[in-house]
Amino acid sequence: MFIVMITPECAPVAKVGGLADVVQGLSRELQMRGHAVEIILPFYDCMRFDRIWGFQKTYSDLWVPFHDQHFHCDVYFGFVDGLKCFFIKPHSYNNLFNRGKFYGDNDDRERFAFFSRAALEFMLKSNKHPDIIHCHDWQTGLVPVLLCDIYKNMGMSHPRVCYTLHNLKHQGLCGEHIIRQVGLDPSNYRNHHRLLDNHNQSAFNLMKGGIVYSNFVTTVSPKYAWEIKYSEVGYGLQDTLHVHEGKFGGVLNGVDYNVWNPETDPHIACRFSIDTIDDKYKNKEALRHRLLLEDNFKPIVAVVSRLDHQKGVHLIRHAISYALANGCQFVLLGSSPDPAINNDFWQIKHSLNDNPDCHLEISYNEELAHLIYAGSDMILIPSAFEPCGLTQLIAMKYGTVPVVRNTGGLACTVFDADYANKPYHERNGYLFNDLNNEGLESALSRAIGMWYNYPEHFRGLMLNGMRYDYSWNHPGRDYTKIYEYIRE
Ligand code: ADP
Repeated sequence: MFIVMITPECAPVAKVGGLADVVQGLSRELQMRGHAVEIILPFYDCMRFDRIWGFQKTYSDLWVPFHDQHFHCDVYFGFVDGLKCFFIKPHSYNNLFNRGKFYGDNDDRERFAFFSRAALEFMLKSNKHPDIIHCHDWQTGLVPVLLCDIYKNMGMSHPRVCYTLHNLKHQGLCGEHIIRQVGLDPSNYRNHHRLLDNHNQSAFNLMKGGIVYSNFVTTVSPKYAWEIKYSEVGYGLQDTLHVHEGKFGGVLNGVDYNVWNPETDPHIACRFSIDTIDDKYKNKEALRHRLLLEDNFKPIVAVVSRLDHQKGVHLIRHAISYALANGCQFVLLGSSPDPAINNDFWQIKHSLNDNPDCHLEISYNEELAHLIYAGSDMILIPSAFEPCGLTQLIAMKYGTVPVVRNTGGLACTVFDADYANKPYHERNGYLFNDLNNEGLESALSRAIGMWYNYPEHFRGLMLNGMRYDYSWNHPGRDYTKIYEYIRE
């Protein structure tokens, strides 16, 4: 099959969170299975250009209809980890992707509406007729709408669309001018069965458009698929998902073990496998050395996360003092686009400056993340909701035991050491239910107690986690089946 991904992110060149990892990992798996995959992205000024190989302008005469005008774009091509990527660069129109960041401006909806139209225009003009267009999150929700109502009539009748929901908290609510700008008549879409938001009668909902107009809709874990259909985690799209449940399902994300593998990882101090797990402790030493932590007999509890309310920032804050008071070292790597949250963590960092057991790194640092996964004993993920979560999957591959809240993809992949409905050899971490300090302590205290009092059992949990196969192998097969199903 020929598959085109239209996406706002792809690791490692343009990554904000797990969406980027998913596009990279799934695309590589599909390519390994013999499919032809191409990826279309915006040309951001803040991309990791050092990770693109053979970068060159490939198309310089793309005129994208927008706003009753045509805007001139160049398209660049390059390989990202062996994947064919096209980057669309608009000229002169509001500097759409030259903002020094990926998201967070007031005109984000307009920026990605433009990108959606530009991606299809590029496919039309360069004669790309894929079997499948796979698009992601609200940023590309207009792609199936535009395909159906404009580009099909221009000869693009072949592609079927698979649309993946990575996080329903962000749905792309916008006014009718955005719909008009991309070339659609808003009056055709101001309707509950189309793009009208389910709660805000004056807003159009781009993610809803993606759901309604795609041939198949997936989300990133079976539990989250259930939660967004039946609970407030659906942020108002529950009804829409009910109406379209015949073409909707959850596929658990995988991890790209070419990138996240302690046996081959170039960013860690000492490579190790399940058979040489004692070498993990050389990474613990290296992590302590790098972050100036004391060398002592304590477990390292780590957090690697966007610092967002979704991720339970208030519990992360509590966990720092709880872990330090209960015989642990604490390492945090995280950052937030919200200055208030960042400031908060900077203050905690200053107040703990002299503490030899704590280091907070308030930044985004891909390379350091690898060493933290390899060198820590436990990873903490106290999310309010978590569509899939990649951090626990990566951590387990590196023999780091997850302590997580019982929600979404965390509940699908972490099985409690004491309470899971699973045989002992399949238990791999600790879960808690209540989104409060007591809930967090109920799991973290058990993990710390096990580390100190029953090290052999703790080691068993580490090995159980490492044995799980959370590669893209299974999800790659599932997505191939979905693509085949919608082609028929
Ligand atoms: P989300 O997509 O909601 O952010 P996921 O768990 O699905 O959460 O994916 C998070 C990804 O981002 C992981 O690959 C994780 O290692 C990475 N990550 C998060 N914060 C940072 C950071 N500050 N520095 C480096 N990598 C980070």
